[in-house]
Amino acid sequence: MSFKNTPPSVVSTKLTFPCTECNFEAQSARQLSRHKAVTHTQNALKCVLCPFVTAYQTNLLRHRKDVHGICGSKGNLLIFFCDHF
Ligand SMILES: [Zn+2]
Ligand SMILES: [Zn+2]
Repeated sequence: MSFKNTPPSVVSTKLTFPCTECNFEAQSARQLSRHKAVTHTQNALKCVLCPFVTAYQTNLLRHRKDVHGICGSKGNLLIFFCDHF
């Protein structure tokens, strides 16, 4: 089994879109705008345990539950550790 149809110029060019407000480098303009939207807005919600960032509290709660096993939410309190942690 061989890969005879390998695209020629897919590897070499490394184009990055650096964020103007932090050290983040996106792989595309779309990713950069998304990064800015979730990271550099007042709505940005950051996980206290890892670099996870989202604009939606629901996503953050689900993330913490799935990834870190932290349960529960207390209204708008973003930094919350339950007894299971
Ligand atoms: Zn940034
Ligand atoms: Zn996390």
